Amino acid sequence: MEYSSQLEMKTEEQARTARQLRQVNEKLTQISVQKDAFLSQISHELRTPMTSIRAFSEILRDGGEMPPEGQRRYASIIHDEAIRLTRLLDDLLDLSVLENAQIVLSLQDGQLGPLLDRAAVAAGLTEGGMEMRRDPEAERVWLHTDTDRLAQVFINLMSNARKYCDADAPRLDIRVAESDGQLHVDFIDNGSGIPASQQGTVFEKFSRVSETKAGGAGLGLAICREIMARLGGGIDYLPGQAGGAFRVYLPVGRGAAAEAAQ
Ligand code: ADP
Repeated sequence: MEYSSQLEMKTEEQARTARQLRQVNEKLTQISVQKDAFLSQISHELRTPMTSIRAFSEILRDGGEMPPEGQRRYASIIHDEAIRLTRLLDDLLDLSVLENAQIVLSLQDGQLGPLLDRAAVAAGLTEGGMEMRRDPEAERVWLHTDTDRLAQVFINLMSNARKYCDADAPRLDIRVAESDGQLHVDFIDNGSGIPASQQGTVFEKFSRVSETKAGGAGLGLAICREIMARLGGGIDYLPGQAGGAFRVYLPVGRGAAAEAAQ
């Protein structure tokens, strides 16, 4: 090979390596920025309950004589905030485990109907007058998946439906369908739903649409998304419905979840 073409190849190779290094560098900067943003969001989320706990415990400690009713009220705020902190830490830990691929799925055969029943009880839907309309199809569907993880997704969606549905006549519809080897389970409540501009971002960490209600940290749907990806399926917002509407989908048939977990 001629010296000039050897030189050309070398320069090309160097240019390619420089390009690759630049790309790696850009990626690392991007990861570092995301990590900083995540840490600052976490500290913000932790600081809010910590501040209440500190302030109310100081009042109890230094406030002198106080009627028992006032004491109980402050103690109960401290208790609620401690529970909020615990839930936040549990969610962060769960998300970190899911994102870092450390989970081992425990696959079992299970029926969709009883799984939905179990989730409804855990989400508190069986108390409080929520009307639940469920597709009879759910009773016929069998699954081979990590039923505990799937139940966790259902519980999350049902708890949200409970928080955000119409307060006067709460209702949740659960629709089930099978198409092209996928099972769809839709959760449609009669609340005000999520505005179109935010439907795309609602599965991101710390994403919250309404600050007024319920006070979650906005991690629940991010956890649902990770779990469904692990189970070989997914979760989407269903646009065009009157209330909050989410679709969980999952491959049906033996081995589908196992393949997804590889
Ligand atoms: P959170 O713990 O804050 O409820 P999620 O990740 O579960 O976190 O939900 C993110 C945000 O999406 C909520 O803060 C809420 O604003 C909105 N959201 C979730 N489910 C519904 C629903 N069924 N109807 C209306 N808004 C909802």
